Amino acid sequence: MKFLNSIAALLILASASVAAPVIVIDAGHGGHDQGGMPGQRIAEKGYALDVAKRLDGVLRRAGFRTVMTRKGDYFVTLSDRCSISNRQSNAVFVSIHFNGAPNSDAYGIETYFCRGRESAALADQLYRQLLASTGAPGRGVKSRSLYVLSHARFPAALCELGFLTNRGEAKRIAASSYRQRLAEAVGAAIISRYR
Ligand SMILES: [Zn+2]
Repeated sequence: MKFLNSIAALLILASASVAAPVIVIDAGHGGHDQGGMPGQRIAEKGYALDVAKRLDGVLRRAGFRTVMTRKGDYFVTLSDRCSISNRQSNAVFVSIHFNGAPNSDAYGIETYFCRGRESAALADQLYRQLLASTGAPGRGVKSRSLYVLSHARFPAALCELGFLTNRGEAKRIAASSYRQRLAEAVGAAIISRYR
């Protein structure tokens, strides 16, 4: 019996150590930082927050613990965004953005990671799920030393969910049903990877 009790204790310890990570959802920009290109007509910050909130709902309904780096239209420094994630005991950081370019023909989805095998795999999984769910063209999984990725202690990826400077893509993004689809695609990738 004592032996069985020790086994049970070990199993409890083992399951605690592989507990699902907290998902830190980072809505890009906010407050005076509109995001996007200088003079861009459609602000990035509002759509980023909208998709981040939808993603929060998707993940909570799936039983995940989540933390949002911002929940409203206010400014949060890049360093504070990283601190919110880095002070967790186990986390995954996912940043939500929309793209903009001087060339209004540019459109499609891309994801980013900075370093580490898990961040690369996460960025890849997000990318594949987003393309499958939306049918949007893919612009690739890219490695770049973006601040919120290079300062992350845990696996981290950033999603650029489409170009607000492209007329057709901006029109798609303006529909709440499409933003829900984007959030569900990001959520599905996280759920399948970390549940
Ligand atoms: Zn952005």
